[in-house]
Amino acid sequence: MTTKRAAAKAAGKGRGRKPMADAERKDKLVQTRVPGDLDETLREEAKKKRVSVSQLIRNVLEDTFDLVDNVVAETVSFGQTVKRDARRIAESAQGLRSSPPPVHAIDTVYAWQRVILNRPGVCENCGKSLAKGADGMVGLNEDPSAPPVWRCLSCGAQR
Ligand SMILES: [Zn+2]
Repeated sequence: MTTKRAAAKAAGKGRGRKPMADAERKDKLVQTRVPGDLDETLREEAKKKRVSVSQLIRNVLEDTFDLVDNVVAETVSFGQTVKRDARRIAESAQGLRSSPPPVHAIDTVYAWQRVILNRPGVCENCGKSLAKGADGMVGLNEDPSAPPVWRCLSCGAQR
């Protein structure tokens, strides 16, 4: 156990996660083995994003299901193994999602990820059309059932 994790545990924060909402306590535990270099990458990325590794992996999986085939992340590299697995998950998830956007999907966006769009989108802030292949921002959403929320680069930089 690293010093930081030990400190977090001593401080009563369990594995560094904030207390979960009641609904989240029913979550299932999923365990997987990863190569050492991937583990290191995940830890570094989680530190950068100031989330736990568990939360990071959960976010990645949620994003995969949310975005399915319409996003190519240009900044985050989790390694070929995760990419391949994520692609397989996305492929198997295709056709399962066709829900209309909830009215307040933007309310649960906690960060913007710069992406290259793989399908046309519309900036939720200014209404600008975003063509396939264009640079844009996608909202990372804490609601796993929320559809992707897009922003153009200038709106994504706004507070
Ligand atoms: Zn915009």
